[in-house]
Amino acid sequence: MISGTKMPLFDHHEFDDHEEVVFCRDAESGLKAIIAVHNTNLGPALGGCRMWPYENEEEALTDVLRLSRGMTYKSALAGLPLGGGKSVIIGDSRQDKTEALFLAMGRFVETLGGRYIVAEDVGIKVADVQTMARVTDHVAGTPEKGSGDPSPATGFGVYVGIKAAVRHKLGLQDLRDVRIAVQGLGAVGRHLAGYLAADGAKLVVADIDQAAVDKAVIDFGAVAVSPDAIYEQEVEVFAPCALGAVVNDETLPQLRASVIAGSANNQLAEPCHGKALREAGILYAPDYVINAGGVINISYEGPDYEQSRAFAHVARIGETLDEIFHLAENRIVPTAEAADEIAEARFLRRGDDSPVAA
Ligand code: NAD
Repeated sequence: MISGTKMPLFDHHEFDDHEEVVFCRDAESGLKAIIAVHNTNLGPALGGCRMWPYENEEEALTDVLRLSRGMTYKSALAGLPLGGGKSVIIGDSRQDKTEALFLAMGRFVETLGGRYIVAEDVGIKVADVQTMARVTDHVAGTPEKGSGDPSPATGFGVYVGIKAAVRHKLGLQDLRDVRIAVQGLGAVGRHLAGYLAADGAKLVVADIDQAAVDKAVIDFGAVAVSPDAIYEQEVEVFAPCALGAVVNDETLPQLRASVIAGSANNQLAEPCHGKALREAGILYAPDYVINAGGVINISYEGPDYEQSRAFAHVARIGETLDEIFHLAENRIVPTAEAADEIAEARFLRRGDDSPVAA
């Protein structure tokens, strides 16, 4: 599917034996997109569609290869019968969106016959996925599919994950009087703060949105600090629920927490920061494991969706983290490496067991 020789795929630094990479072009609507199916050993590849004004095709390809691979690991560790995929549309979501664009994208998703299931991601709204759904059934996360907003499930998963990490690191069975710094009080952060406060945790919060901060102070008795001051708080847990790359060379020396556990994607600026956290004695709950509540919830959607069943599955994030923490200790490796090892054992084993084609 790759055109020309300017963009080598098989030698690309983010290429990781992806099963299928589809370059999608529809001249009439102006659509330029890439769909990457990383691995379907455990099931169809579910992953969001991102719309972003990439500088060039190379940047878009790098993103979609990396993100689709990440979804394989996430779904495998979440114990889902799903593989990993992702798609990117090259364009500015503020000005380039048209109905024709999303219908064209939907038709490309349809050509994959269900090997890829599309959902929303950065720059894409549920309404855009609903437009795609007019021409393909292979969509997830729309109101018609029944599971609704994934953020409450993500917040619940992070709460369960924090309890597992606090139990492992500090030997505490509950969160009463445990000090927790929550960075970001958006869709996930405010649900998380609710669960934590109900358990008696002492919250310190920061957000660039003052109204969200004021609400947390009133609703949860939280102490507000400025966005820059959240890293240096004297707390047991730091829960990043806003931005990526928050564990970096600048923030690491400021951190006082014993545990880092939050919903934000790509919390480690570089893999070496996972090693640095381990050496500093800080227990890191790998982001793609602890923030899987949303995708778990989506996997239960359908006419017989029941929130209680989905949330019971989300609660298993705690056990998965326990397994990761123990493996990381036994192997003396960062928790993110241990997580990858367990995920690979799950999705690669299934591949090895499958019958070899004649
Ligand atoms: P959101 O946009 O609703 O909330 C993010 C919040 O962070 C906002 O309130 C924003 O004002 C605040 N923020 C931005 N910059 C900040 C800063 N410098 N300091 C403090 N606060 C800041 O997003 P969300 O859906 O709550 O997601 C939060 C994170 O979790 C994101 O990284 C997202 O990718 C990740 N995540 C979300 C889900 C989900 O189900 N929503 C699932 C997996 C991962």
